[in-house]
Amino acid sequence: MDQHLPPDAPVASLTEFADIPRHAATLSAWGSVAGPSAPVAIGLATVIAATAWSKGSLRPSGAIAAAVVGSIALHAGWSWGGFLIVWFAWVTLGTRLGRARKEARTAGIVAKGGQRDATQVMANGGIFAAAATLSLLRGDLAAHAAVWGAAALAAAGADTMATEIGTWIGGAPRSVRTGRPVPTGTSGAVSLAGSVSMVGSALGLTAVAVAIGLVSAPHWWIVAVAGVFGAVVDTVAGALLQQRRWCPSCETPTEQMRHSCGMSTRHRGGWRWLGNDEVNLLCTASAAVLAWRLASMLA
Ligand SMILES: [Zn+2]
Repeated sequence: MDQHLPPDAPVASLTEFADIPRHAATLSAWGSVAGPSAPVAIGLATVIAATAWSKGSLRPSGAIAAAVVGSIALHAGWSWGGFLIVWFAWVTLGTRLGRARKEARTAGIVAKGGQRDATQVMANGGIFAAAATLSLLRGDLAAHAAVWGAAALAAAGADTMATEIGTWIGGAPRSVRTGRPVPTGTSGAVSLAGSVSMVGSALGLTAVAVAIGLVSAPHWWIVAVAGVFGAVVDTVAGALLQQRRWCPSCETPTEQMRHSCGMSTRHRGGWRWLGNDEVNLLCTASAAVLAWRLASMLA
């Protein structure tokens, strides 16, 4: 080993030492804890998405979309990627709980099953990916982007869990539009179990966002309020605006274009172009906009 240090070594060390507070400040800035390099982020996200596909949680198109969203989030920072991974584990758990019972209860109603495709992934995670991208491009906006990105994902998680737990253990849900009981799985219908799951999920995901360092503790309530708001918007839009279809053969309401009996269904009300995926995008977007407004008011 060379024991003769160059004469400028102590000076260099002191310079590095002086840099420590600056590095520490960067690391502690909320929502900007440096993530892995792009190749590592892409590799890790691809492995997780491929695993979810092999376990039947995602369709192939959904796995590709999830790998893209995951790569962006991980590259934006460990807090972004970590929050996305916990969120995905949470909604996957919710989807799997009582799956057989849920499928039996909603067989003729829901448009898509438990396997998410690319449109569903982007409706739920697109806003979060946009927020992560903004934080990568504009470090000065990273803390704000983290608040509305977290709110969008909290809303998507709250809405998903409301549906999953509600259709699993909830009683006959009531339509927000008519106030009358409707078949389990109908969009825009609420049950007590579903509503409790919605609020509980929004609060739980908010706690994760704070614990993981994505959102600063004083901003927790913005994520929680906006998350619940987005899920409520989803329910109301699902009840009042989303297209409703009818199977003339079974004489039953459904969200399927072709009913589980094989018969083509008829448009019966609501906006034809507004399906479940569009309503989910409205859910995450409305949460992000409210969080952005609230965070701007505080700034
Ligand atoms: Zn039918």
